[in-house]
Amino acid sequence: MTVLLILLGLAVGSFLNVLILRYDPDKDGHSERSEESNGGKKILRFYLRMTTPTFLKTAGGRSRCLHCGHQLRWYELIPVVSWIIQLGKCRNCKKYISLQYPVVELASAALFVFVPWAVEWLLFQTGEWIPAFAGMTGDMWMLYGFSAFWILVFLMLMAAFFIDVRHYVIPNYLNLSIFIAGIVWTVVRMGSFLGSYADLFSFGGSASEVGLVLNHILGMVLGAGFFLVVIFITRGKGMGLGDAKLMAGLGLLFGYPDILIVMVLSFVLGTLYALPLLAMGKKGMKSMLPFGPFIVLASFLVFFFGTRILQGYFGIIEGLSL
Ligand SMILES: [Zn+2]
Repeated sequence: MTVLLILLGLAVGSFLNVLILRYDPDKDGHSERSEESNGGKKILRFYLRMTTPTFLKTAGGRSRCLHCGHQLRWYELIPVVSWIIQLGKCRNCKKYISLQYPVVELASAALFVFVPWAVEWLLFQTGEWIPAFAGMTGDMWMLYGFSAFWILVFLMLMAAFFIDVRHYVIPNYLNLSIFIAGIVWTVVRMGSFLGSYADLFSFGGSASEVGLVLNHILGMVLGAGFFLVVIFITRGKGMGLGDAKLMAGLGLLFGYPDILIVMVLSFVLGTLYALPLLAMGKKGMKSMLPFGPFIVLASFLVFFFGTRILQGYFGIIEGLSL
């Protein structure tokens, strides 16, 4: 089973690479820049128009070397293996192939293995993830369904990560898809990733089903709201509207209080990354740094280690006060 999941993950990661690399913010019209022209259309038609061309475009056409246009043969397209055998270089022009290829493929394979593992832990080991489904926790369909759901979410987040690094923009079709996933998760009325720690922050909302829905909506308002305020104060220099849109979707998905941890961690990660660059003078205070990747990494951390991060944090606080 694990071997199958790894192979499937590698294949999906290989496709994801194509999706990421063929994204062109100017040609595809999926970026914020062309958004105004889409206003007023029905949501479904809007969504289909935003997503379909990307998939049609990426599904068609043979893969080529980005440097010399050399058409890749089947043995040059084997995930990770081809990259290692060719020592990371194109067989034709000998230029280096982006490290993104093996990284995305391996990360995708890791998602296919570790997401089901984490979902199983959240479902069966901690009883608090799904209060709305109390009494149904033994069902295997939930393990498969929720695993597939979160693998898809994290694949979309991974695409957002690399496209933001390359183009300083998060495509609307990704933000919209994550937002729709958030609506689904809210309708399912899922509880917190933080186990019993959620009760420290929440106001008893997790006790009732209406409260659970409100927690997700509050997560969206806080997530998007905070970033909109930052954008307003910094006049768009610190972050883009794409970050706020991503936080709206993630806020719905993670809900309150989890989204607060996502926010705090994203700023901690962003600072840890930026400080050495600032100190070495490689980046000035004014140079652009995409913030989306830090939000994505923070989401990974809360999903996989939410409870343990808080355990560690409160452990340190306790240690200091003793
Ligand atoms: Zn080449």
